Amino acid sequence: MITQPAASHFIDGEYVEDSSGTPINVIYPATGEIIGKVYSATPAIIERAIESGTKAQKAWARLSGTERGRVLNRAASIIRERNYDLSVLETYDTGKPISETLYADATSAADALEYFGGLAGSITGEHIPLPDGNWAYTRREPLGLCVGIGAWNYPTQIACWKGAPALACGNAMIFKPSEVTPLCALKIAEILIEAGLPPGLYNVIQGLGDVGATLVSEPRVDKVSLTGSVPTGRKVYASAASQMKHVTMELGGKSPLIIFDDADLENAVSGAILANFYSTGQICSNGTRVFVQRKIQDAFLKRLVERLGQAVIGDPQDEATNFGPMVSQRQLDIVLEYFEKAKSEGARLITGGKPIAGDGFFIEPTVFADVTDDMTIACEEVFGPLMSVLTFDAEKEVITRANATEFGLAAGVFTADLSRGHRMVDALDAGTCFINSYNDAPVEVPFGGVKMSGVGRENSKAAITHYSQLKSVFVRMDDMESPF
Ligand code: NDP
Repeated sequence: MITQPAASHFIDGEYVEDSSGTPINVIYPATGEIIGKVYSATPAIIERAIESGTKAQKAWARLSGTERGRVLNRAASIIRERNYDLSVLETYDTGKPISETLYADATSAADALEYFGGLAGSITGEHIPLPDGNWAYTRREPLGLCVGIGAWNYPTQIACWKGAPALACGNAMIFKPSEVTPLCALKIAEILIEAGLPPGLYNVIQGLGDVGATLVSEPRVDKVSLTGSVPTGRKVYASAASQMKHVTMELGGKSPLIIFDDADLENAVSGAILANFYSTGQICSNGTRVFVQRKIQDAFLKRLVERLGQAVIGDPQDEATNFGPMVSQRQLDIVLEYFEKAKSEGARLITGGKPIAGDGFFIEPTVFADVTDDMTIACEEVFGPLMSVLTFDAEKEVITRANATEFGLAAGVFTADLSRGHRMVDALDAGTCFINSYNDAPVEVPFGGVKMSGVGRENSKAAITHYSQLKSVFVRMDDMESPF
């Protein structure tokens, strides 16, 4: 079994319990078993997290960036040493197979801590020469107290993609995980303290959306970074805007993956599988509208079905498994409803389409072909293992159809013609594009969406600008002039 975190919340350097909060069961998606319980944060817990964060931030901001970075780097090393245990925990929290979590979760968290730890000493302003020997300089200052609110698909990664740049810039963070996956962020908080982070700078409190909403509307909070759905994003952005807070919004998508008939078929099939079935399809940037050029559609579907036959569905703690359950019964039900809608609207079921008998939340990897642009599965984010295959003939046509969505998170193109690849990327409305690849998300590269898919960017140097603000300082070297 897992080593459970010792209590529901982690505040001011220690585990804290308050069992008067609403209980939240932790359910292992592979078996449906209750494996733990946390309590939603009460007003007293929220106050404690805000007070300790606000207090600790001032001294943290006074350290040099290099000193702050050293702590983050130490935390990254501890995470790497404990990758196996953290991956087991991530698998219990999310149901994602350990064959994934060993490589994509704690390791990605460690990458973020290392990257922003390395950058911390270089967070500086600039010198701006002005006429007559005058000059100005800018200071890049922290925002203060940041709130991170996470989705359930990558709980460890999200906790660090938000926490690492926030801390590097000299902020404090309160992180609220999704109530579906409350465990992993607590371990990150614990490790940060072990690495030397002063107490109060990274607090984790549990709760449903109401706890998130309270944090967002709290006047002492300076910034909110949300990973979640568009409807939640709308609410959070509006609430933050009323107090002019900084925001980062990492929201949903319905991204196009476009496969031209000159593409390497095997690579294109690999891309489409990765873009739809990794993490059982529960990835925001997934390329769920797979546009296949007419000439190769039959060959594509044939090879896709053959390759899907190799999926190993089963116990996610077994390293041989490469396709796990959905995160929850609720998410399973949502996806099953989409299967029914697809069938009733005339999409052709190619493979899958059913839940898998048993206690866990397992469902078959599913492909629908003959999907048209107006079908529900082509318009709405499903967040499950459902690939929609659409047919296209011409480049111009597919660009128009690919862009005809309110979302703009990602887009992919498979083609042997690199000029066309770049031409397509130029025309596609998406924050992250892939040519002959899909879903790479290295920390060095900005990640985020356009249109309804988000505001701001995570990762890369761009994230620094979202966790800090500029102060301009004008310095006069000659005498002041004044009209009277
Ligand atoms: P939700 O939008 O339901 O929830 C996201 C988080 O927001 C949860 O912690 C939730 O709490 C909290 N929340 C809900 N309501 C409020 C509110 N009014 N104020 C503040 N916080 C609130 O998303 P899911 O957890 O279901 O995650 C799936 C979604 O996340 C998908 O749309 C997906 O595309 C998106 N996502 C985007 C990513 C990106 O980087 N662009 C990456 C991963 C996912 P609780 O759930 O506990 O009630």
